[in-house]
Amino acid sequence: MSEFFSKKFKNLESYVPGEQPKDTNYIKLNTNESPFDVPAKVYEHINNARALRLYCDCDCVDLTEKLASTIGVDKENLIFTNGSDDILDFAFMAYCDEDTPAVFPNITYGFYEVFANVNNVPYEIKNLNEDFTINIDDYKNVGKTIFIANPNAWTGIALSRDEIEEIVKSNPNNIVVIDEAYVDFGAESAVPLIKKYDNLLVTQTFSKSRSLAGARLGFGIACPKLIRDLNTIKYSTNPYNINSLTQAAGIGVLECEQEMQDNIKKICKNREYLAEELKKLGFEFTPSKANFLLVRSNKISGKEFYEKLKESGILVRHSSQKEISNYIRITIGSFEDMKKLVEVIKNL
Ligand SMILES: *Cc1c(COP(=O)(O)O)cnc(C)c1O
Repeated sequence: MSEFFSKKFKNLESYVPGEQPKDTNYIKLNTNESPFDVPAKVYEHINNARALRLYCDCDCVDLTEKLASTIGVDKENLIFTNGSDDILDFAFMAYCDEDTPAVFPNITYGFYEVFANVNNVPYEIKNLNEDFTINIDDYKNVGKTIFIANPNAWTGIALSRDEIEEIVKSNPNNIVVIDEAYVDFGAESAVPLIKKYDNLLVTQTFSKSRSLAGARLGFGIACPKLIRDLNTIKYSTNPYNINSLTQAAGIGVLECEQEMQDNIKKICKNREYLAEELKKLGFEFTPSKANFLLVRSNKISGKEFYEKLKESGILVRHSSQKEISNYIRITIGSFEDMKKLVEVIKNL
């Protein structure tokens, strides 16, 4: 740290992304990317993108129109951001401060804590139940800005739309942010509730189910008033946060909606296959509605499990957080990857 670094960031612990190794050709099951690349048509869209000498369209007009009709909301209900990390950061800026702290579960997406810290927002952490489910009573009438990943990160366990509604309804004076990064893999989306509640912000991403992790495209869905708040933040930080190539890629992907849905089905099938095989082998795992499984063996520690798989050319994610340090998180890949993984695990 230089002597010039602002003292407000002196103790900031930044987010540590999952490994993206260049040296070895791992079977990469550590950062919940899609095993399927986008169709060739999407690269054609990128080739035909708006000339790079020109600034990109800050309002993402074409993309907004396309997504609005794909998911059945109005254009005024949408805002695009540079990955959904960007909109989560905006939400901390827009809806949290000294008087309105944030609240989120102890086991969840690690970035919430970092965003709270970088934005100087106080926060409260609620423990999950023993079985890693979220206790919704912890979030009723809390008087704080609520951040819940649904399905939850690390566990993949989802709340129902009715449970989300109970939380949203009981906090009319606070914003509830539902992070739906993994919703396409089998959970109920809270998007239909945005017409009824003006304190609900849903965030989604093209990174996981839509194969665009590298393009960085996320979005928020909420009532028009909230979208205006978030645009105020966007236009005060980086109006050009989605470059022309990414906008073109996003439009291309939305034109391949059927392929995307087919890929999602395949991933869900592979998840069931892996779960079945792991069960036969005596492993424990959470009932995941996401594109990953949180897995534990009673014969081997989480860290050792991670290391052994890495030695065998398979990269998974391990967390040193004590509640889950005995687990590893395995991204659901292609069927071939899952078969290979099962073979390797059998040989351990
Ligand atoms: C991956 C992930 C995100 C962020 O993804 P982006 O690539 O920034 O869109 C947000 N929330 C959760 C829970 C995630 O797992």
